[in-house]
Amino acid sequence: MRCRICKKEAVIKVRSFGIALCEEHLVEFCLKRVKEAIKRYQMLKKEEPVLVAISGGKDSFVLWDILDRLGYKTTGLFINLGIKSHSEKALEKVEKFANERALPLEIVDLKEAYGFTIDDVKRKETRTVCAACGMIKRYIMNNFAYSKGFPVLATGHNLNDEVATLLSNVLSWKGGYLARQGPVLPAEGRFVRKIKPLCELTERETAAYAILTGIDFFEERCPYSKGATSIIYKRALNLIEYHSPGTKIRFYREFVKRAKELFKRQEEELKECPNCGYPTTHPPCAFCRLRERMTA
Ligand code: SF4
Ligand SMILES: [Zn+2]
Ligand SMILES: [Zn+2]
Repeated sequence: MRCRICKKEAVIKVRSFGIALCEEHLVEFCLKRVKEAIKRYQMLKKEEPVLVAISGGKDSFVLWDILDRLGYKTTGLFINLGIKSHSEKALEKVEKFANERALPLEIVDLKEAYGFTIDDVKRKETRTVCAACGMIKRYIMNNFAYSKGFPVLATGHNLNDEVATLLSNVLSWKGGYLARQGPVLPAEGRFVRKIKPLCELTERETAAYAILTGIDFFEERCPYSKGATSIIYKRALNLIEYHSPGTKIRFYREFVKRAKELFKRQEEELKECPNCGYPTTHPPCAFCRLRERMTA
């Protein structure tokens, strides 16, 4: 297998494009895809400071690395969720990554800032911990960005993540979620703009990028990740993609271009949380309700 561009030994076949690429041109390909996605969806201007959500996993590091290489003004945000041994190890990787590249890093410690941890949520709540954890992370990331004056928050969702969520929302026709899904969620009141610059790169491509550029990412899986339903959707989509390359990117792009708009009217009206001022459909906001249960 030879690289389509330079004819050297290829390291990966990008099936959706029907091309093989060598190490150098795979890195170039990923940078170009992110640059084009930022432009296509009008995500970010060069002079805007962008807060990058960092978990220590490959996608968050790839995102930070690429945005930095493309010349954006990035600051990383790591949330210490207080998951026994796991969170501390992730933090070590994140600090190492930031130090090696002299990139600014901010850390929010859930226990210190809000009085509870994800381990506490796991112990005390009956619902799945991931749903609560996702909500907590979204709340903290947005609040941090808003209070520190970052107009934009970037997350490392890749194409596989995006189409899995899309399929799950379509299968249940979750209109409110579909209206808000996509590469850019515009700012609204206390909500800063949310962007997903890796949305057109597959998981395989981000993994190859991380390995080929020597990114030392945190590989250990969260102990609570077992049984996440998104894995089923990802498997189903991988099977479809295998038989029909290019399906994922078409599904995603066409949704954003044609279908997303149709769900606009189903969005529920936002009100202000009386405790923290966060926009919510059902005040007090879900974070404040959970925090009260956790710290009671
Ligand atoms: S797997 Fe679930 S609990 Fe663990 S970090 Fe992710 S969302 Fe949180
Ligand atoms: Zn090449
Ligand atoms: Zn609140």
